[in-house]
Amino acid sequence: MTEKSRWLYETAQRVIPGGVNSPVRAFKSVGGSPRFIQSAFGAYLIDADGNRLIDYIGSWGPMILGHQHSHVLASIQSALTEGVSFGAPNAREVELAMMVTKLTGMEKVRFVSSGTEATMSALRLARAVTGRDYILKFRGNYHGHADGLLVEAGSGLMTNEQKLQARSAPSSAGVPQAYAGLTLVADYNDPEGLAQLLRDRGNTLAAIIFEPVVGNAGVLIPTAEFIDVLHSAKEQGILLIADEVMTGFRLSPGGATERLGLKPDIITWGKIIGGGLPVGAYGASAEIMDFVSPMGPVYQAGTLSGNPLAMAAGIGTLQTLRDNPEIYEKIEDYTERLEQGLLLAAAQAGISVCVNRIGSMLTMFFTEGPVQTYQDAVRSDTRLFAQWFHEMLNRGVYWAPSQFESIFVSAAHNERTLEHTLQAAASAFLTIKSQSQG
Ligand SMILES: *Cc1c(COP(=O)(O)O)cnc(C)c1O
Repeated sequence: MTEKSRWLYETAQRVIPGGVNSPVRAFKSVGGSPRFIQSAFGAYLIDADGNRLIDYIGSWGPMILGHQHSHVLASIQSALTEGVSFGAPNAREVELAMMVTKLTGMEKVRFVSSGTEATMSALRLARAVTGRDYILKFRGNYHGHADGLLVEAGSGLMTNEQKLQARSAPSSAGVPQAYAGLTLVADYNDPEGLAQLLRDRGNTLAAIIFEPVVGNAGVLIPTAEFIDVLHSAKEQGILLIADEVMTGFRLSPGGATERLGLKPDIITWGKIIGGGLPVGAYGASAEIMDFVSPMGPVYQAGTLSGNPLAMAAGIGTLQTLRDNPEIYEKIEDYTERLEQGLLLAAAQAGISVCVNRIGSMLTMFFTEGPVQTYQDAVRSDTRLFAQWFHEMLNRGVYWAPSQFESIFVSAAHNERTLEHTLQAAASAFLTIKSQSQG
C-alpha cells in the first residue's frame, strides 16, 4: 500500500541524514516509515502511493487556509512572472510589512527566511539593547535550532534529550557548554519558580523568550498568574520576546499577543507569515528596531530575505485572513467539535486522555489531565499514542507524528473531514484498547 514511500525512504536515507530534512518528519517517536507526499489540495495530502490523507499538520502551521488556496496561488503566480529574486528592495516587502505592523501593533518589522533566524536575531537585538548577556527560556519551549536556544527545547528534542541524559545541558550535541550556559531555564506555568529566578538573576537578563501558547511540548496554555509574573519582568529592564512563530496570525489576527492580552517588547513570526514559503520575521517598537543595521549597530542580513515569491505567499495569506475574519470562528468551531468528539470516543473505549485546545491548535495527551506544565506532558503514554497514530494513518488521517506536537486545523477542513476523523478515532481507540488487553 505504501510501496513507493518505502522505496523513496530507503533511497533518501542513503543521501540525506535519516532520509529527512527536518527530524520530526522521520516518524522516530512513533516508529514505522514516513509517507512521502506527492501533492496536497485543501485539507488533504496525497502520498507517493496515491493514498488520500486528511492533513492535520498543515506544514506544521503555515497552511491555515488549506493547500493551494486560490488567492495565495494567484499572488505567488503574479510574483513569479516578475522574477524570483532581486537582491534589491521590492514593493512586496513594504506591503507585507505594512500588513504585519497594522495587525500586530509592532511599529517596524524585519523579514528573514525562517523562524530560527527570527528568534536568533531577536535575541541578538535584545542583548544589544540591554547590554546584558543572559537570556531565559522555558523547559519544553522550542524556538528553532540556534545554538543558545537548543536547551531543554521540546518536541523533536524530547527524544534526542534522552540520548544525552544531562539536565540543564544543551539538547543537542555540538552546542558549546559555555554558550548554552548563557541560557537560563525555568518551568513554564510555574509562576513562583519564575518569580524566584527573577529575584536571583533578573538584573543579568537581556530577555525572556517564550511561546505565548506552547505548541512544541504539545499544547500548553499559560495561566493568568504566569502571565502576570512574565509581565513583571519588564520592571527589571528585561525585554519580553513573544515567539509567535506558531501562534502568530493563527490564534487571532494579532496572534496570541492579542488573544491573551500580552505586552511583549519583541515578537517573532514564521510559518503563516510566509503562507508556506520560507519566511520569518521579527518586530518591535521603532526605538528597538532601529538598533538593527543599517540604522544601528546590530548586524543582521540575508541574501534571500524579503524574497518576492515568499512575500507574495505571505501577502496572499494575510489578505485572505484579514478580509475573511470569520475564518477564525470557523476553524475554532471545527477544532472544538473535534475536541468534544475525541473526548467522547476515548471515554467510550475506556482510554484516559487530556485534550488541550485553544483556537485551532489542539493536542490530545494520552494521560489524565490536567496538563499545564512540561512535567505533566511527559507523563503521557507515548507508546499508546504511537499505536493510535498508526491506526489513524491507516484510516486516512495524518495526525502529528509525535505526542508532543500540536495539530493544526485549516479553513479547508469541513463536515466531511470532521466526520471521517471522528469515525477513524472511535475505531482507532477501540483497536488500541483491545490490543492492550490482548
Ligand atoms: C517552528 C517554530 C520555530 C522555528 O521555525 P523554523 O522556520 O522551523 O526555523 C520557532 N519557534 C516556534 C514557536 C516554532 O513553532
